[in-house]
Amino acid sequence: VQENHQQASEEAQSFGTFEAWIGGSSHPAESGETFETRDPVVDEPILSVPRCDEVDVDAAVEAAQDAFENEWGNATPAERSEALLEWVSVLRDNIEELAILESLDVGKPLSYAKGEVNKGIDFIEYYANICRAEGGKEIAAANDAHIYTRREPYGVVGCVTPWNYPLVLTSWKIGPALAAGNAVVLKPAEQSPLTALRIAELSEGVLPDGVFNVVPGFGQEAGAPLTGHSDVQKVSFTGEDVTGEEVMKSAASNITPVTLELGGKSPFVVFPDADIEQAAETVAGSITYNTGQSCDACSRALVHEDVRDEFVEKLVEEMESHTIGDTLAEGTTFGPLVSEAQYEKVTSYLELGVEEGATLATGGNAVEAEGTDDGWFVEPAVFVDADNDMRIAQEEIFGPVETVITFSDYDEAIELANDVEFGLAAGVATENGSLAHRAAADIDAGSVWVNKFYGRTVTGSPFGGFKRSGMGRECSRDTLNAYTQEKTVHVPI
Ligand code: NAD
Repeated sequence: VQENHQQASEEAQSFGTFEAWIGGSSHPAESGETFETRDPVVDEPILSVPRCDEVDVDAAVEAAQDAFENEWGNATPAERSEALLEWVSVLRDNIEELAILESLDVGKPLSYAKGEVNKGIDFIEYYANICRAEGGKEIAAANDAHIYTRREPYGVVGCVTPWNYPLVLTSWKIGPALAAGNAVVLKPAEQSPLTALRIAELSEGVLPDGVFNVVPGFGQEAGAPLTGHSDVQKVSFTGEDVTGEEVMKSAASNITPVTLELGGKSPFVVFPDADIEQAAETVAGSITYNTGQSCDACSRALVHEDVRDEFVEKLVEEMESHTIGDTLAEGTTFGPLVSEAQYEKVTSYLELGVEEGATLATGGNAVEAEGTDDGWFVEPAVFVDADNDMRIAQEEIFGPVETVITFSDYDEAIELANDVEFGLAAGVATENGSLAHRAAADIDAGSVWVNKFYGRTVTGSPFGGFKRSGMGRECSRDTLNAYTQEKTVHVPI
């Protein structure tokens, strides 16, 4: 494993320069500082990238502003669409290489990384296509005037992304932002900046210089100067709720509108008439995909007391069925946590759950994947005998840890489902169609899935949160409007 990963890292270094991408070319940080991005399977560095700060952010925002004013902001939707579709085609030609970078950076099984890279490119393509058909509207408000609206891009959009789905989450922002006619400055997560840097390099000669800029670095040093920048006209952030608060405050100083995609503690409600086997498979799939490091992972299974034993038995079987190990090897279904910090966080919750009085039905141990004893691996875990007041049921663990809680009737199920600060996603398992619709209406969440849990990657389907899970929606047709401002024109006739 060590050798495989060392070889892959060396190969990755040859893919590009992995410098900051500003104004259409590669740059080191002005300070000359760098930081290492690490491979969590073997806990070894992959490569060094510039540690950008305020000075680099200023340069990137200026480059973006120039590109917006000189060319991109005045291009027609058809011209933007054409350029973006050409970029999409270049990205598609480089899927293998992008998947290796994504797999190494986050510790994802390579086949999953490939699927996600594909999805990310799909999102850019989707917005490149639909921007041709979007625009203002005619207002039928008066007989003596022609009143219509124009949808105009903001100018420079500042995007900040987390580490768990680097390319997909980047595409959710830059796809609509660029298609709508804005120029973008992106600050990727410090744990996994490689694919963002590489797709920027792959935009050379395809997108006008300065339209897309990437400044790798840390939150306080590069993220905060971007979200609080007075020349940034729109901020789009994905990350933790507490960081979202900071971002909103910094944007508030310039009255900059924000889109916030934040955390979750999503429930899956299993009614007694459900297909229990399928429900358990669904929960296990959701909480173990990407090693549980998904904002919308189904981390609370709310199960009717009559079917609890059957459900837990099947859930445990599913959680134990993973092939844990080398993410570059075929057949691996479960990789490590992204970093030592994430490992410490997840294992601290495993201890806390036991202290709080819950019982571990399976997992929770550190495991050594064959051939590497340095990776940040933990076994998928299931807590039973838990109640919803426990911290393991209220806080986002962001790891492969499921908490099972029982209920006895519909009202209790809905009360438990809604009794958290978050409201990103939820699921309902039942064979009764009207019960499914009723529960979907009663649960406070941005997405509710019936008899499944994961539909957000459908291009065009809105995704976003209620409550502390954020504001605004990504992935949908309407998202284009979030990256434009509406102007009303009145002409007397
Ligand atoms: P994080 O909030 O720690 O970091 C996210 C990004 O913000 C990083 O790029 C970081 O460098 C930057 N940042 C940190 N402090 C900042 C500041 N003061 N100003 C500006 N930028 C700053 O989150 P994370 O640990 O990278 O990601 C995990 C979190 O993201 C989880 O809570 C997860 O639920 C959430 N998430 C949400 C969605 C969604 O679509 N709702 C998707 C994926 C992840």
